[in-house]
Amino acid sequence: MGKFILAIDQGTTSSRAAIFNRQGRILALAKQEFPQIYPHPGWVEHNPQDIWTSQLASCRTVLKMADLKPEQIAAIGITNQRETVIMWERATGRPVYNAIVWQCRRTAEYCQSLISNGKENLIQNKTGLLPDPYFSASKIRWLLDNVPGLQDRALKGEICFGTVDAWLLFNLTGNHLTDPSNASRTMLFNIHTGKWDSELLKLFNIPAQILPEIKPSCGSFGHTAKELFGVEIPVCSVIGDQQAALFGQCCFTPGSAKSTYGTGCFTLVNTGKNPVISENCLLTTVAWDLGNGLEYALEGAVFVGGAVIQWLRDEMKLIKTAAESEKLARSVKNSGGIYVVPAFVGLGAPYWNPNARGSILGITRGTNQAHIARAALESIAFQCADLISAFESDIGSRIELLRADGGAASNAFLMQFQADLLDIPLELPSVPETTALGAAYLAGLHTGYWKDQEEISANWIPAERFVSRMKTTERCRLTANWHKAVNSTLSFLPE
Ligand code: ADP
Repeated sequence: MGKFILAIDQGTTSSRAAIFNRQGRILALAKQEFPQIYPHPGWVEHNPQDIWTSQLASCRTVLKMADLKPEQIAAIGITNQRETVIMWERATGRPVYNAIVWQCRRTAEYCQSLISNGKENLIQNKTGLLPDPYFSASKIRWLLDNVPGLQDRALKGEICFGTVDAWLLFNLTGNHLTDPSNASRTMLFNIHTGKWDSELLKLFNIPAQILPEIKPSCGSFGHTAKELFGVEIPVCSVIGDQQAALFGQCCFTPGSAKSTYGTGCFTLVNTGKNPVISENCLLTTVAWDLGNGLEYALEGAVFVGGAVIQWLRDEMKLIKTAAESEKLARSVKNSGGIYVVPAFVGLGAPYWNPNARGSILGITRGTNQAHIARAALESIAFQCADLISAFESDIGSRIELLRADGGAASNAFLMQFQADLLDIPLELPSVPETTALGAAYLAGLHTGYWKDQEEISANWIPAERFVSRMKTTERCRLTANWHKAVNSTLSFLPE
C-alpha cells in the first residue's frame, strides 16, 4: 500500500488540501471557499469555525478524490495565511471573537502611534518588520482591549492566541504550537534569539500565557485526534504560505528567489543563516527551521499585482477574463508610452507609502484599450523588478534566477516582460501548487519520506523558462520612465 503526504493549505479565501506522491506530483486537490466578513470599511474578519470546518471538509474530500485510506497518509503538513489572529478559550476551544485577518486596517492609528513614539527601529531590529496593522501584535492588542474581560482571562492563562496554523493544529491535535516562520510575522518574535521577546510583549502589553510554544517548522506537532480521520496521522510541518512557496520552489540556497504573482505579488529571497535587515523597506522574515536553527529570507510585497487585471475586468470592463489581458496586450506592439501605476491601496516596498493613489500617465489621442491593458500587465513586472533591485541592494549581490508561480504567472506576455526587465532567467515549475508542496516537503523530510533537500530538488522540473530578449538601452529607458511615473504618482496627494 503506497504512502503519500497530505498538505493543508489554509488561504485567505479558501481552504485547500492536496495529496502528493514521492515525485512531488499532485494526486488530488480539494478546495472549499468560506465567507469573508467586512464589518466596517477597511475591516476584514473570518469566522474561525468556518476556517476549521472548510479545512476539515477539504481534507476528507481530497482523500476520497485520490481514493486513499487515511492509513496511506504518512504525514500532514500545514501551510497557512499568515498574521491573521485568532483567540480562543483553552478549556473549550471556543473562539472569543472572529479571526482578524491580515488585510484588516483597524489598528492603523495605533500603529501610527508606535511610529510617532519612536518604536520603529526597536521593532525592526528585533522582528525584521515595520510597524503596520498587517502584523499580528496590534490585532491582539485590539482584541484584548475590545472583548470584555479578555485581558484578565488572558492573564489567568484561560486564553490561547494563535495564527491560523496554531488554530488548525489545536483543532487537529489539541496542542498549542506554532513554528518560527509564522511566529516571525506576529511582531512579538525576536528573529535573532528565536524566542518570543519579553520587551515587545511589554510594549504591546500582551500576556505571555496566551502564546503558543514554538517548534521547528519541520518536526513533530502531534497526531490528529482519532475521530477526525479514523486513524491518528502525524502532523510534521507548519510553515507560513509565502515561506512554503519558497521551499516548494526549492529555493534552498542563499540568493535563490521566488515571486508569486497572485492578487498581490510576494517576492522572497533566501538569505540563509543571515537575517539581513533591510534599508529599502523590505521585511526580514524567518524562512524556516528544519531542526538545525533558523534560516531567513527577505520579503517584499506588491499590494496590487494580479488585482490590476481584476480591475481591468471588473471596473474598466476592458476584458471579460483575466486571460484575455494577454491577447489584448499582444494586439499592440508596445504600450504606446503609457504607464499604469496601480497604487490603489498605496505602494509597498521599496516606496512604502500608504497614501499614494493610482495613475495612468502618458496618454495621447492615439491611446486605446490595448495600450492600457498592456501597461497594466507591465506594471506588475515593473513593481516586482523594483523589489528585486531592493533585494540586490540589501544583500549586496545579484539575483541570478527567479522562480515564478501564482495565477498571473500563467500569462506568458507578463513572464517574458518580467524576464526582459530583470535580465535574468525566469522559471515556472511543473507543479504550480508550490505552497502546498512546500508544506508537504517539510512534513515528508521529517518522517524520512524524502531523504534530504537534494532529493527534493531533483523533483523540481521546469515547465517553462523565459530569458531576456530586450536590449539594455530599451530596458534602461523603460525602467527610468517607470520611476518617473512612480515619482509623479507619489507627488500627487489629493486633499
Ligand atoms: P490569490 O492566491 O492571491 O487569490 P491566484 O494565485 O489565484 O491569487 O491568482 C489570481 C490573480 O491572478 C488574480 O488577481 C487574476 O487577476 C490574476 N490572473 C489570473 N490569470 C491571469 C492571466 N492569465 N493574466 C493576468 N493575470 C491573471
